[in-house]
Amino acid sequence: MRWKRMLVVVATLAAGTASAASKLNVVTTTEDLASLSREVGGDRIVVDSIARGYQDPHFVEPKPSFLLKLQKADLLVVVGLHLEIGWLQPLLTQSRNARIQPGASGYLDASASCRILQIPAGQITRAMGDVHPMGNPHYWLDPENGRRIAKALQDKLGQMQPADASYFASRYADFDRRLTDAEKVWDAKMAPYRGRKVITYHESWPNFCARFELVVVNYVEPKPGISPSPSHTLDVINTMKREGIRLILMEPYFAIDTPRSIAEKTGGEVVVLLPSVGGVKEVTTYIQLFDYDINLLVSTFSKGK
Ligand SMILES: [Zn+2]
Repeated sequence: MRWKRMLVVVATLAAGTASAASKLNVVTTTEDLASLSREVGGDRIVVDSIARGYQDPHFVEPKPSFLLKLQKADLLVVVGLHLEIGWLQPLLTQSRNARIQPGASGYLDASASCRILQIPAGQITRAMGDVHPMGNPHYWLDPENGRRIAKALQDKLGQMQPADASYFASRYADFDRRLTDAEKVWDAKMAPYRGRKVITYHESWPNFCARFELVVVNYVEPKPGISPSPSHTLDVINTMKREGIRLILMEPYFAIDTPRSIAEKTGGEVVVLLPSVGGVKEVTTYIQLFDYDINLLVSTFSKGK
């Protein structure tokens, strides 16, 4: 990346935007956090996300436009737990925006208010793969954590813009109600399939599976972040045959060939679930994300898979 040249561009463009800010300018690393910000912030904030929902959030290629977004931001909301460790920090440093640096009042780590799974107990070594050392960062895939993130956003936005605190509070309350209603529907749809065993590609789904009572037995990746290997693939095939597992859940941004060949050898099916809002263009909100994933799962289960 040619950062120096990029900075000149940024400095020139930023001069034109500095005065436009009567609404809080919120930047999020992912579209899930952007959707939750919109739920709470309504028309009193402007929201933009950096990563797109169809991208692998562990690896996002920096672009000059990201720097512009960060430079204008009043609030940066991150997933945290090292999810963005490969790409965010250089952008943040280069933005030179003191308001949104870690520890500043315009920096919100959404993980801080959430229930986090898979926090490693002992020493982390390279041999364990790309283990997330602070616990699993795919925690937004439990609606209860979505609710907690929305609450944290309400608190933060209310502190930053006290005149709108009651507006943010009523937006949060409305979201909480709609999410609670939606959860009743999701629970009813998933109830017949409680306890089903599944394989997942990456460890993206522990919160989702715990919430909807699916049991993750193995992964297509031999270790987190490590590409499939023939010997591990054989283990997965044997496990699926032995335990009668039919479902392989995967994220849209991994190669489908290994999951597909596992499915062919086991009579199983590959289901591409969306880990994020924006994974397909019709899924534009946090609640729609679960609608999409749960409907897809239920239709696959109901075919006898
Ligand atoms: Zn991960």
